[in-house]
Amino acid sequence: MPTTPQTLLAQDAAVEKVATGAQWAEGPVWIPARSAVRFSDIPGNRILEYREATGALEVYAADAEFTNGRALDREGAVIQCSHGRRAIERDTGTAPDAVPSVSTLVDSWNGRRLNSPNDVVVKSDGTIWFSDPSYGIQKEEEGHPGQEEYGDRWVFRFDPASGELTPAVIDVEVPNGLAFSPDESILYVSDTSLGTPAMDGGPRLHGHAIHAYDVVQGRFARNGRIFVEVGPGVPDGFRVDVHGNLWSSSKEGVQVFSPEGERILQIAVPETVSNVCFGGDDGRTLYMTASSSLYRIRTTVTDASAALRTSEA
Ligand code: MG
Repeated sequence: MPTTPQTLLAQDAAVEKVATGAQWAEGPVWIPARSAVRFSDIPGNRILEYREATGALEVYAADAEFTNGRALDREGAVIQCSHGRRAIERDTGTAPDAVPSVSTLVDSWNGRRLNSPNDVVVKSDGTIWFSDPSYGIQKEEEGHPGQEEYGDRWVFRFDPASGELTPAVIDVEVPNGLAFSPDESILYVSDTSLGTPAMDGGPRLHGHAIHAYDVVQGRFARNGRIFVEVGPGVPDGFRVDVHGNLWSSSKEGVQVFSPEGERILQIAVPETVSNVCFGGDDGRTLYMTASSSLYRIRTTVTDASAALRTSEA
């Protein structure tokens, strides 16, 4: 059923601030068994959880090695990016009373360390796609200073079954958020290079764009093009709903784009939004990490990838 901007949000939906106190909140994911949104406070070096039933904000992990984006894999474990360990990690601590149980999945390519994995998405075939910009080795408050060992910033595809790590997107200057279209035929990748010097010294034309790639044979990203330009600010993290609409962060809130790239909805948020995720027991609440706080609003849609997981369960 097609959705119009009016029907994307629940009737009388309003932005609600539900928690605050982070230094910079990022990387939200909904953990069903805990009825909680888990997210990163990157400079605070903590992982926080907002419990929906009680409204409590709890510290899930301290000294967390500067985690950033996260997603659930097909078993329901959390796949998370670590600036500090320059790695993609898997945390099986998702049961109601679980504590962190973290293992490293991958931290190098061809013998060279990753930069600082930023955001991650799990495809329905179990492969893990993640962006690898350099914020966590450039900004002291977001990790540990270090070098770009492979000399660039890419999106990688990691196959946990084989251990194979393959560059998937190499032509986005500062890759950041990423998500697949509902049928996984398109990979979206944001570029947040606006405000940093261009690598080749030239003018920066699309430093705040979301790029689209065709996914060929389920594993190759081809035919990259500009999908939308997002402003003010930059599109950091984003999610795609079951209808293929893209819900992007921006400086002044959340902007929703149709599959054709038309901006169909704006949700004003008082703080700069870094990322979003769908959650709540019905999957229809949009949670928004925004600077120091966590906000939410009720919608009528669910995350495209959640539908894939459910249909396979
Ligand atoms: Mg990010």
